Amino acid sequence: MADRSSIEWTEATWNPTTGCDRVSSGCDNCYALTLAKRLKAMGAAKYQNDGDPRTSGPGFDLTVHPDALDIPYGWKSPRTVFVNSMSDLFHARVPLDFVRRVFEVMADTPQHTYQVLTKRARRLRQVADRLDWPANVWMGVSVETAKELPRVDDLRQVPAAVRFLSCEPLLGPLDGLSLDGIHWVIAGGESGPKHRPMDPAWVSQIRDQCVQENVAFFFKQWGGHTPKAGGRTLEGVTWDQMPRTVPA
Ligand code: SF4
Repeated sequence: MADRSSIEWTEATWNPTTGCDRVSSGCDNCYALTLAKRLKAMGAAKYQNDGDPRTSGPGFDLTVHPDALDIPYGWKSPRTVFVNSMSDLFHARVPLDFVRRVFEVMADTPQHTYQVLTKRARRLRQVADRLDWPANVWMGVSVETAKELPRVDDLRQVPAAVRFLSCEPLLGPLDGLSLDGIHWVIAGGESGPKHRPMDPAWVSQIRDQCVQENVAFFFKQWGGHTPKAGGRTLEGVTWDQMPRTVPA
């Protein structure tokens, strides 16, 4: 899938791989898993392989798509691209050679800015020195509860121009969070019929820490039955900060 995105902090999505397996509590209500089931039923070619029902689902088996690698070359105007909205690039079954090809495409198209987000922070750290890191690649990890804080330590060791955290869905307080070496934090609550509530104190704590440490902060949404149900102001303020990018 390569189209305009409704995600507030990006403009387009690009999925050189599709499919995934659940790894932590933030995956419990994975929107991509639900969407893949629908796309399979609609006959979408990229979503015909079924994953393990214990961790994945219909149409959501990890699949690489070499034919999707050319897509960014066709985008004429510069855009901000969320890589793998329907997968996780650092999933163990994505061959390192393919990850390298994705990075080569990103380096080859410096007019675009790429946001790569993973929950496989350990593999990211382990392979980071075998990848080239162009200045237009922003690398992030998901942090839903304090249990996932070790992912931030892994990310800190990655030589990306911008390192960011996606604290969404935020499912607990992030006591002990260190923002050393982190440039941007996105926070948000869960949406959908099974959404889990977010305590305002958890978000305020992260915002305060970002303000104190001069880290860009983006508050995406409170969540609820629909993404926009609870709005996106925090104590009356809209937080839309983006990281300052390092010149190429
Ligand atoms: S890592 Fe992301 S794409 Fe994979 S199951 Fe979890 S939430 Fe879904």
